[in-house]
Amino acid sequence: MSKKIAIKIDVDTKRGYAEGVPNMLDIFHKHDVQASFFFSMGPDNSGKAIRRIFRKGFLSKMLRTKAPSTYGLKTMMYGTLLPPPQIVKPNPAPLLRSLQEGHACGVHCWDHVYWQDKLPHLTEEKIREHLTLACELFTEITGDKPRFCGAPGWQVTADSLKVQQEFEFDFCSDVRGYEPFYPVMEKQNFMPLQIPGTLLTMDEVLGANGINDDTIVDYWLKNCDKQWNVWTIHAEMEGLSKLFILDEFITKAKQQGFEFVLLKEGKNLPDIKKCRVYQGFLPGRAGTLALQSDPLN
Ligand SMILES: [Zn+2]
Repeated sequence: MSKKIAIKIDVDTKRGYAEGVPNMLDIFHKHDVQASFFFSMGPDNSGKAIRRIFRKGFLSKMLRTKAPSTYGLKTMMYGTLLPPPQIVKPNPAPLLRSLQEGHACGVHCWDHVYWQDKLPHLTEEKIREHLTLACELFTEITGDKPRFCGAPGWQVTADSLKVQQEFEFDFCSDVRGYEPFYPVMEKQNFMPLQIPGTLLTMDEVLGANGINDDTIVDYWLKNCDKQWNVWTIHAEMEGLSKLFILDEFITKAKQQGFEFVLLKEGKNLPDIKKCRVYQGFLPGRAGTLALQSDPLN
């Protein structure tokens, strides 16, 4: 049986959505590969992410990954010097094209920056309100309910898991870990299944330990060392200035015998266990994020 890689694409900004997604679709078409997209559906408040500058590690990450040149200066002003534009509503084409070309599409959030920066302080009602806005717009545009969701910045609380459970998604991908699992948080069991990302992301590893544009694909493929691997990429990076890395990754992975599958195939893996979701740290990322524990009992 060939080893599998599921590509998870987070779409965080208007530019990533409008330009990065079509670029990525061209690459997927060229290689005949299907991927799973998570769309930020509402306003692009990227400029407010500047607030994170006061958090440990953010500035060094911004400089290391050359974020201003990657994201574009305009994107970095949305929500501060410029009003936040709506991402999907005025321009449904990239979402619709992704569906038409056989990719799996779900929601990332309504407002990425808001969720990522404020989740621990949000009431259950506020979380529900935001997720409802995202899901309703998705349904309005595509005619179908979104079947999956993935939290911005891997920010998770027991309340957010509870609200996501109400939407009866087929799976969620909110956590970083090593294999699909049933989540337990604050001693409560939640549905649906979590299908976590298994590799560090480009912004976490680029520039660290001698990893650069020329070596990052080999680094990732070396770490696709299990039967099931989930590679998380961003429309703002691997869809724009780092598009050549997406192309190279797929080419080399195919040469090495990997098979590309949709994230939902993680539901079919045997012997899925319960694991705790906890807040922890990953190298190269500022602040905490949701991680998968060792299996329970
Ligand atoms: Zn995101």
